[in-house]
Amino acid sequence: MLLISSPARPEWIGDARPLMGTRVSVLLWHDDAAKGDELLEQVFAEVERINALMSTYVEDSRISEINRRAATEPVVAGDELFNIIQRSLDISVLTLGAFDITYDSVGQYYDFRKHQRPDAETVEAERKLINFRNIELDRSAGTIHFLKDGVRINLGGIAKGYVVERGVNILRLNGVQHAIVTAGGDSRLLGDRRGQPWMVGIRDPRNEGQVAISVPLEDEAISTSGDYERYFEEGDVRYHHIIQPSTGLPATGVHSATVFGPDAVITDALSTSVFVMGVDQGLRLIATLPDYESIVIDDQGRIFYSDGLQQPEAQDFQDSPATDP
Ligand code: ADP
Ligand code: MG
Repeated sequence: MLLISSPARPEWIGDARPLMGTRVSVLLWHDDAAKGDELLEQVFAEVERINALMSTYVEDSRISEINRRAATEPVVAGDELFNIIQRSLDISVLTLGAFDITYDSVGQYYDFRKHQRPDAETVEAERKLINFRNIELDRSAGTIHFLKDGVRINLGGIAKGYVVERGVNILRLNGVQHAIVTAGGDSRLLGDRRGQPWMVGIRDPRNEGQVAISVPLEDEAISTSGDYERYFEEGDVRYHHIIQPSTGLPATGVHSATVFGPDAVITDALSTSVFVMGVDQGLRLIATLPDYESIVIDDQGRIFYSDGLQQPEAQDFQDSPATDP
């Protein structure tokens, strides 16, 4: 038998697949296309592994087991799940409860494909169970315990950020220097696009297929939460997937919230948080986080930028004399 090995050729390698109820895509540069293909498969396998662990839509996932049993007794979460739940609770504290994985006591009653939503009575009863303080973590035992019956958790606001962070980590550890991994509204960039920054588009929330703003980024994470991802309309009301914990109803006032910074787990959770908190409170929170910036589009289509994004050139131009004295 004659084996002909083709010479290694550098190229962009990519694919997009429907996973985690959304579209997951990977694009990477590799000196050896065959090795690049292998890494691509490794990233998609990692996405499936995490989904099998963290999805409430998977009956036998650990998180589904937690939702079934953790109100009765402490349940061993496993290191990975324990850590992501701990990080979710930290962000709940940081956002004064705007981000809350227990939103699912109400959230479980929505089915956006079937245009189903909880009735007012159900919302009223279940929203009282939304409170991250009803989750008790025991680090030494590695367990999670719900302090009330009916508490449920859902990592939909943070798991995709975790997935893209893990995906890029696999690529980095294997020597890849240029890549982008995207899951729905969450992207993690590795390096640049070979000499140019990656250009990441923020969608126009009310014109499908249109980009409102493009942001040049390198080696960063960017997440957008929008009311156009999963929703249905009844009359004038748009029922979408981001829940205001205090009311148990879809958050209002914002059409999309984008956050970028070094860690996709944080940008994912914060984009959901800023959406819930609204323009003023949300941007004030971002101003306290030196590594993170945000762009918010409100329900009038107005665009707001966090302080760190205000263009310094404009300021310099005004302040500096036109000619040297
Ligand atoms: P996507 O990338 O799917 O648009 P987002 O980052 O915008 O996701 O988060 C939306 C998801 O977060 C919802 O589908 C739901 O699973 C979850 N979620 C909704 N409201 C909250 C909330 N107040 N706190 C934490 N998670 C939430
Ligand atoms: Mg998010």
